[in-house]
Amino acid sequence: MKKYVIANFKMNKTDGDITKYLSTLMPIVSGSEAQVILALPSVSIKSAVTKVGKNGIIIAGQNINENDFGSYTGEINAEMLKGVGAKAVLIGHSERRTHFAESDELVNKKLFSAMKTGLISILCIGETIFDKTNGLTEKTILRQLTKSLKSIYANELKNIIIAYEPVWAIGTGVMPSNAEISKAVKVIRKALADVYDKTIASNVAIVYGGSINDFNIKDIVKISDLDGVLVGGASLVPEKFGIIVNSFDKVKK
Ligand code: PEP
Repeated sequence: MKKYVIANFKMNKTDGDITKYLSTLMPIVSGSEAQVILALPSVSIKSAVTKVGKNGIIIAGQNINENDFGSYTGEINAEMLKGVGAKAVLIGHSERRTHFAESDELVNKKLFSAMKTGLISILCIGETIFDKTNGLTEKTILRQLTKSLKSIYANELKNIIIAYEPVWAIGTGVMPSNAEISKAVKVIRKALADVYDKTIASNVAIVYGGSINDFNIKDIVKISDLDGVLVGGASLVPEKFGIIVNSFDKVKK
């Protein structure tokens, strides 16, 4: 399966910074086989889409409102993102769940909305430190997965990437072991196989996110059943992010 390397800029960088960033990143990753997706602040999506042109990098949003159009001051919807050239969007990132009280039910509505417009959804799930220390990792992942994907048909899964992001690993420098990541991937794939079927489950891209950097990526790429990574902090420096992207080409197939 294709490997995905997804950057989440969060609320970082001005439009001018992003143009400079792309000028540095594009030549570094131009030969990579991995699919690069950059989740940018929405105000920079249009200029980034123009800047990357036809070079294959996908520009994504970081969030959408679940409604079509209407009186939701300050919000943007999937149709608007698509209108400026975004092809994907993060849904249910843990910072959205924590700071903006996004529930699994809301995440499910946002997924529907993204699907209706044809955007690729990057669905973020993962346990908190409370879950982990209380042995609830699997239960939490399964709850988030089943509730978020409620009533979503099998043929729509081709437009969904699942990002396994333990909340305790995001921005902390602390990471699960390769075995723990691999176990979570298996749990997710089995749950998908139970709800849909084995073939469909094996075709869904599952990526890991949480404190990935240009050093530890060497170990992460060894996880054979993982389809890529989602990178926050280390994606902000184009040279570092470029190393992460190109690391996937060095893995023996
Ligand atoms: C994230 O925000 O999704 C993330 C993985 O962040 P970081 O790489 O900084 O842990």
